Amino acid sequence: MANKVYDDILQTIGDTPLVRINNILSDCPATIYAKVEYFNPGHSIKDRIGLRMVEDAEKRGDLKPGGTIIECTSGNTGMGLALAAIIKGYHCIFTTNDKQSKEKLDVLRALGAEVVVCPTEVAPDDPRSYYSVAEKLNKEIPNSYWCNQYDNLSNREAHYDSTGPEIWDQTEGKITHFVVPTGTGGTISGSAKYLKEQNPDIKVWGVDAYGSVFKKYKETGVFDEKEIYPYVLEGIGEDLIPANVDFDLIDLFEKVTDKDAAVMTRRMAREEGLLVGYSSGSALQAVLQLQDQLTKDDVVVMILHDHGSRYINKIYNDNWMMERGFLSRGRTIRHIVEAK
Ligand code: PMP
Repeated sequence: MANKVYDDILQTIGDTPLVRINNILSDCPATIYAKVEYFNPGHSIKDRIGLRMVEDAEKRGDLKPGGTIIECTSGNTGMGLALAAIIKGYHCIFTTNDKQSKEKLDVLRALGAEVVVCPTEVAPDDPRSYYSVAEKLNKEIPNSYWCNQYDNLSNREAHYDSTGPEIWDQTEGKITHFVVPTGTGGTISGSAKYLKEQNPDIKVWGVDAYGSVFKKYKETGVFDEKEIYPYVLEGIGEDLIPANVDFDLIDLFEKVTDKDAAVMTRRMAREEGLLVGYSSGSALQAVLQLQDQLTKDDVVVMILHDHGSRYINKIYNDNWMMERGFLSRGRTIRHIVEAK
């Protein structure tokens, strides 16, 4: 949007570029495009839903001037909400878990939000979980609104109204496969609903983590607690079924390991110039794992949810990778010592 002038930062949300993947998967017969969501002002796709959840709450009268926005967020949704809150004059309190990168939490604090860190390894109904703490704060703080991105359908509606139509227009209706790392399910369900309304033959592939319930639930209809165990991938997979996931719109879920996603994310930075977040590597890794199902006429669009800056001390750090067995040897850093 060259030469366009905006009244405030919220107007710059959306209309992100679709960029072709040229070097990785060069053997894959299909054309692969990435919807690069770090071009949003908060550097992630979640700006779209942050604004939409706030606007819908205002319309319903759930959020009143000077109110407090509460949310459980791994960082990206908080960022989107914080931007909306700054422009619209609300206070933010975010509950998050101790698995999230420090950079994400520091960014939220930089935008004026309060952040409450809760333990990861507790069940969602445990009083210490970040869901329970958000619920409690919402009850205690007058004039507060808990967004609850998991069950708040404004989440997927934001994608039905923006992400889906953008992809349809950008591919001129040629998209055949839609690949989406899935957490709350808002991105995949909202965008897929719009895309399948245009062309019901579009295949929708969700990307899931090992340690998450989605794939098994899709395949069997059973919520299997044995599927739940700790993993390091951030932003995707769940230990509950959010209301935003519409399983009927999703053709299959593909699981990607923590290691494969991390290694692929680093390749995307170095081989495509896409300095993206951890879940983005899971998207391209899923395409690689499923490439036998693709032909030369296929046009794949995958969502790259966020920017890599939030993961510099994690997947982009050689020591972090080696400690987890994701990398056998780091790159040598040469220290030039001046000879006397
Ligand atoms: N990747 C990242 C980095 C995220 O923050 C999220 C949101 N949890 C997702 C993927 C999944 O998106 P959604 O919640 O819309 O399913």
